This record gives sequence, C-alpha cells and structure tokens, in this order.
Amino acid sequence: MRALTWQGRHDVRVETVPDPEIVNPRDAILKITSTAICGSDLHLYDHYIPTLRAGDVLGHEFMGEVVEVGAKSTLKKGQRVVVPFTISCGNCFFCTKQQYSACDNSNPAETSDASDLLMGHPMGGAFGYAHLTGGYAGGQAEYVRVPYSDVGPIVVPNHLADEEVLFLSDILPTGWQAAVNADIEPGDTVAVWGCGPVGLFAIQSALILGAERVIAIDHYPTRLALAKKLGAEVFNYEDVNVREALDEMTGGIGPDAVIDCVGMESHGMSVDNLVDTVKAHLFLGTERPHALRQAILACRKGGRVSIPGVYGGFADKFPLGQMMEKGLTVKQGQTHVQKFTRPLLAMIEEGKLDTTFLISHRASLEDAAEMYRHWHDEQNDYTKIVLKPEMAKGTVEKVLEEPVAA
Ligand SMILES: [Zn+2]
Ligand SMILES: [Zn+2]
Repeated sequence: MRALTWQGRHDVRVETVPDPEIVNPRDAILKITSTAICGSDLHLYDHYIPTLRAGDVLGHEFMGEVVEVGAKSTLKKGQRVVVPFTISCGNCFFCTKQQYSACDNSNPAETSDASDLLMGHPMGGAFGYAHLTGGYAGGQAEYVRVPYSDVGPIVVPNHLADEEVLFLSDILPTGWQAAVNADIEPGDTVAVWGCGPVGLFAIQSALILGAERVIAIDHYPTRLALAKKLGAEVFNYEDVNVREALDEMTGGIGPDAVIDCVGMESHGMSVDNLVDTVKAHLFLGTERPHALRQAILACRKGGRVSIPGVYGGFADKFPLGQMMEKGLTVKQGQTHVQKFTRPLLAMIEEGKLDTTFLISHRASLEDAAEMYRHWHDEQNDYTKIVLKPEMAKGTVEKVLEEPVAA
C-alpha cells in the first residue's frame, strides 16, 4: 500500500510499504477514506519528538471503512468508523477510570521502557507518533491496523460526511477537553493562545460550555478571522502587548481561565523565546514554552490554566512561583478521546457543533509530502488539510476560499 513515511527532519515521503495485517483477535483493518495532518505532526516533521525511525508511517487523525476484522473485534466489514488517536485497551485501571490516554496495556514493553524512564511511568499507545507511544503505524496511508477495535472506533451514521466527523479522532475532543479542563463557569472570560485547529475547537467548546467572553490570540490573520467568526474577540500578539491588552479587556483582573493551544514550538520575538530556540537547536532543551509562560502570567489570581498544547520533556525558566503565589489550578494531558467521541458525535448530529469551517485544503494522499511543506511554511493559508487516498495525484482542492480579514 501507499503511505506517508517519516525519513528525517523536514523529509517525509509517500512510499510503498507492506499492507497491515491482523495480528491480534481484537484488531481490525481499515481502508482509509479521509485522514488529516495535525499541528502535532509538525513536531515530528521538525524532529522535536524523540524515538522516530526512518520509515515510520505518520498520521493519527483518520477514518475509513472496515475491511477486515479479527475474531474478537466488535466491528463488521463495511462499517464506517472514526478512530481515536489514543490506543486504549478498555480494561486496565486507567481505561476503567476513562483515563484512556494513560492506558497501561497499549504500549508494548520494549517501547514503554523508554517512556517509563523519560516520564516516570510508561505512556499509553498512539497512532503514528514515534516509538515512545508504541511505534504504531499511522493512518496517513491507504490502510491501517486498528488494535483494540472493540474499544476505540466509533461507527458513524451514513448521512454525515467524512469531514463532519473526521475530527472526532483528535482535534475536536482535544479542544473540548481543553475547555472542560478550564472549569468554565457562567460569565467567565477565557483567553486562548493559538488559533490553530485545536485552539478553534477550544474556542467553540468554551462558548458552548458557558464562557461569556473568549479572547483569542494569534498572529495569522486567517486563523484570527476564523476565531472571530466563532464569536471570539481577537488580537494579534505582534500588534499589542498581550498582558496589557488582556488586563485592559478584563478591568485589570485578567482572564478567569487561560488555554495554551500552542505547545512546545512557540513563536515570538521575546528574549525568553529566543533563548529557548537557540537551546532547542543545540539539543540543550526541547521546549519553547513562551506562550504558556505568558498565559500563566496573564491569568487572574485563583484562575485556571488548561494546557492541551503538546510538550515533550523538561522546560526551564518556568513560572512555578507565579503559579503558586497566584493560586492557579493547572490541568493538562493527552486527550482521553474515547470518553468524548459519543457525546460529541451526538452534538454534531444535533447541529450544535460546526466541524468543517476550518478545512482549507483537500488533497490526494500522494501529495502528502508537499502538503506537509505547506502546512509547515504557510500557516496563514493552510488552516487544516484533509488527505484522501482515492483522489488522483496532483489534485488539490482549496476549500476555504477567501481568507477573511480579522
Ligand atoms: Zn492530532
Ligand atoms: Zn487500558
């Protein structure tokens, strides 16, 4: 089959690789109909995540048709399913607490040893995300093997198009969990750093969960325009002093909750960020948490900090004292996707959630490498890319026509 493989920093290629096979009775094989490139795939593309190997198949946001099932799969051939990026057994201590991303059984011993050493405990498994999370082949491919297919995949009704439900695999539940973790109370003001796909879904979720005001911060006009369309007040951090602007907008108090949807590769010309960037390039540090530092300083006293952004290891110059003195509550973590897929699918069916507004491009799987380059270099125009194995090579459809000015 054809699949997008990682070969090295800024080097991904579509190649012919062996077809996946059923290796466990609980497995299923899917024929991929739609798969997306995620912001967190850029951390792989930039080689910020350790334990990648040349030839790894990437992709953790996908859906498709069931074409093969193991003896203990609950799926049936022909069903259309969306698959959570987190691989979870459904039976362990963590899965029974609905902490699916912490699953203790989905990361094989030889790879979980490394994450045990790095994180203090072994991490759960995930699709297409290096060998610390199990080394599972991802879904930017024609076919994929889905372990624990009796637990993760959710069957979707035929009247919903792929693109209405595809993002149940990651960014929609991730944005939703980010808003849930912000413990929003009626009347709250919530500030969101980063208007990428997760940020946009966090904004929509925060408003649904009762936030009175959502303030969104980014520097790409198209992404700010999408945030504004959802109902957020927006500003470009290149034009204003973020802390002063947030204080001004909240009567000097600061936002009740702050959400960091940026993660480890923060942009910006501040001194702390330039030092982080130099250290990252010299392999003296992995994180550039400038946005998170700023969010913590901006948050009101006694407020909440929610971090869906991806971080990989140790960060320095971290405002620990500020978090303590201000009495902030911090919640973060990989998304417990399986906990949210069903309620969110119901909300999509009821028309309460818009899940397609952010798609900018649709392209063939064969053009995935070029799409990674666009996604990395042209973040204003490429707001979300969906890849379709059935599309012919060289076909790129621009979906989001005129970038609206913020
Ligand atoms: Zn993702
Ligand atoms: Zn488990």
